[in-house]
Amino acid sequence: MSMKETIERAENHLLHTYNRYPIVFDHADGVRLYDADGKEYLDFCAGIAVYALGYGNKKYEKTLTDQIGKITHISNYYYSEPLAEAAEALTNAAGLSKVFFTNSGAEAVEGAVKAARKYAYNKDGKCDHEIIAMEHSFHGRTFGALSVTGNAHYREPFEPMIGNVRFAKFNDYDSVEKLVSDKTCAIIMETVQGEGGIYPADKEFITKIRKLCDERDILLILDEIQCGMGRCGSMFAFMQYGIKPDIMTTAKAVGCGVPVGAFLVNDKVAASSLVPGDHGTTYGGNPLACTAVATVFKLFEEEKILDNVNKVAPYLEKRLQELVASYDFLVGERGLGLMRGIVFDTGKKSPGDVVKAALSNGLVLITAGSDVIRFLPPLIISEAEVDEMIDKLVTAITE
Ligand SMILES: *Cc1c(COP(=O)(O)O)cnc(C)c1O
Repeated sequence: MSMKETIERAENHLLHTYNRYPIVFDHADGVRLYDADGKEYLDFCAGIAVYALGYGNKKYEKTLTDQIGKITHISNYYYSEPLAEAAEALTNAAGLSKVFFTNSGAEAVEGAVKAARKYAYNKDGKCDHEIIAMEHSFHGRTFGALSVTGNAHYREPFEPMIGNVRFAKFNDYDSVEKLVSDKTCAIIMETVQGEGGIYPADKEFITKIRKLCDERDILLILDEIQCGMGRCGSMFAFMQYGIKPDIMTTAKAVGCGVPVGAFLVNDKVAASSLVPGDHGTTYGGNPLACTAVATVFKLFEEEKILDNVNKVAPYLEKRLQELVASYDFLVGERGLGLMRGIVFDTGKKSPGDVVKAALSNGLVLITAGSDVIRFLPPLIISEAEVDEMIDKLVTAITE
């Protein structure tokens, strides 16, 4: 079937919730994608920060294929070896005590918010607790996750939200402190804002938030769904700030292509929040998803993924800064590790147009916020591939 036919067939039946690029991807290898016509693309999107290990990792494929041959689903009435293995690997990697597996990032946020509300409920028996979230944040599309997402445009048509959510300004401590009351049960934020435009938390901001949470027994929920799993140069981004969350969410790269997410809690929350009957999921933590998680952690070690991130990230940063210095319509560069963005003066050039031109030039990129192009390559990317990306991007820009 031609790409055009596939696209028509899909559009005839899919609910139109995405404006997809007119490309049918067929297969992939390493850091490259191939469309149905055989055209090659260098991938600096990685399925939105999912494919950390790159495509076609043989050990990953073999372990998953073997598990498919054994059993993929058993329900949460029983145990499986992959479940035990994944739970151990993830809690150890995050330095948190307990984990609940979900099928997606939004569901991880749902669980985190429920755990925080239950913790507060156990303290005072009240049902009016508040959550402080950040403007320009993104936490997912289900009601709980959407309710703490700081983008009114995403929320408004679906109001009312879950309620009692207040929005503060990211990296503005006073704006958070002003919203704190005796009802505040949690503060939720991404350690590095992704969709909103690649904004890393300031160290001072997050340190003060941690202190505030400690003083008032407010739970700090860090959403590491995009910035975690090595992308920023440490297993989870919060580790570079010298603080720990009470609750953390993960998804995207934690399964490297298999749909899986999780929320993790510290001892304090584990001891007094969700108990049997409070929360559940049919698929969550199934043997296939957990095999993926356990294997991803093994391969991160074996293939020294973090070392590569820390080697290549400064090079990507330097090359992007050079790019920004060469064009008047580029006004900034920011990010952490291999989660980076360049900022456009949108009056002069549209990031969306550049992404389209890059695609036809064999380079996959995505935007963030209204004025940023995001760079989220597979974490196995090399310096030579960064050079190749810059060359393709320059061609796209000058076209
Ligand atoms: C992608 C993302 C989510 C939502 O994850 P889904 O798997 O799409 O539900 C939540 N938070 C952050 C920071 C994300 O980047």
